[in-house]
Amino acid sequence: MNTVVDTALIQSLDSAHFLHPFTDFKDLNGRGARVITRAEGVYVWDSEGHRILDCMSGLWCVNAGYGRKELADAAHQQMMTLPYYNSFFQTTNVPAVQLAAKLASLAPDVGDRSFQHVFYSSSGSESNDSNVRMVRRYWDLLGQPQRKVIISRNNAYHGSTMAGASLGGMSGMHAQGDLPIPNITHIEQPYYFENGLPGETAEEFGVRAAGWLEEKILAVGPDKVAAFIAEPVQGAGGVIIPPSTYWPEIQRIVDKYGILLISDEVICAFGRLGHWFGYEKFGYKPDLVTFAKAITSGYMPLGGVMVGNRVAKVLIEQGGEFNHGYTYSGHPVACAVGLANLEIMEREQLPQKVHGEIGAYFAQRYAELNDHPLVGVAETCGFVGGLVLVKDKARKTRFHGDDGVGMICRGHCFQNGLIMRAVGDRMIIAPPLIMTRADIDEMMRLIYLALDLTQTELKARGLL
Ligand SMILES: *Cc1c(COP(=O)(O)O)cnc(C)c1O
Repeated sequence: MNTVVDTALIQSLDSAHFLHPFTDFKDLNGRGARVITRAEGVYVWDSEGHRILDCMSGLWCVNAGYGRKELADAAHQQMMTLPYYNSFFQTTNVPAVQLAAKLASLAPDVGDRSFQHVFYSSSGSESNDSNVRMVRRYWDLLGQPQRKVIISRNNAYHGSTMAGASLGGMSGMHAQGDLPIPNITHIEQPYYFENGLPGETAEEFGVRAAGWLEEKILAVGPDKVAAFIAEPVQGAGGVIIPPSTYWPEIQRIVDKYGILLISDEVICAFGRLGHWFGYEKFGYKPDLVTFAKAITSGYMPLGGVMVGNRVAKVLIEQGGEFNHGYTYSGHPVACAVGLANLEIMEREQLPQKVHGEIGAYFAQRYAELNDHPLVGVAETCGFVGGLVLVKDKARKTRFHGDDGVGMICRGHCFQNGLIMRAVGDRMIIAPPLIMTRADIDEMMRLIYLALDLTQTELKARGLL
């Protein structure tokens, strides 16, 4: 399976024609993109034959690992049977129905929020656009059209469409798009390392951070707030893991004011945190659950929203026509691949593995990084991990943003066959859930190597 590729040719065509997402085009054209040509298991290969351990699962999606023939077969078979048909005009298709029923059976009941219904899209961004539409429709139907404001958090990631980027809390994205759109507002993230006060425990901080939601609700006016949206663990923001006290307090507040809770689980669902859904890990009760990415392990684009009964009941019984949907809502091939992917996860018990012994080993090994001089703190939750690079460990002194310390470290990772993502001064991972102990050991060896090389380079540059 050796894929011969003319690297220079592909790179020049790439520069000439392909505008990459979240990329400084001129800068990339100057360097030439790395051409990824194939993948198997937990590894990807580039066109120069380098083998790289993919500790980001592509972009948080390839939970079941690369090279799954079953998924290719499911797509092939569905394409030959029915490659496409829409669901607009009182028609449906078998895989979309089966997958919706499967998701309903996997999503645990949370009282009046039990999840029996799915609204499909093709991505996380679109799904969050659908959330905004559904939340507004819900309150309109209940005769409270003044409830328009959705509260989110700084540094959250909810996608890149106009609504997705507005819900997200990325200042760089807001700055370039005249965003957020009206009626979306943000509170501070529960990042203990950054926002914890001297002497404050993580548990105390968790309650205080959740309290920012109540403050915001009161500032906006409780009768104007429609929903709160959050990721169980903030992913693209740098793997920000909330203290254990955070979610219970959030739950208390959303219940107190009767506002809807949207759990954006585009990263955290499908085994990532050791459960089918992220809300199970933290024990809260969302009304709407956004999913995408690992529903197909990234093999096909597919996303959607699990709609809890509280909302579904109103939309179904009082709604009339809902004027929203996508050409590819319930795409048969994507749904067939999703079904086959969930079958693999069930058969191989991937969520249970993360929840159990292999997840414990991952947590234990990753925690050893806390002894490295460059690491301020290293934490995991299920199969995500984050660490912050610091100048002075004892004093928790951080690097200057312009030092580009994360990018320096990422460079050393790539050079040595490891994919770890940099978010500012944080280095993050979300490996495929199929990782073995041996894979974890290899990952740790490469992380230590990259950290040591980063330390040497920072010293040479006078930054340490
Ligand atoms: C990736 C991501 C999205 C956006 O998904 P796309 O498929 O890229 O549109 C939304 N929310 C979260 C939490 C994500 O990680």
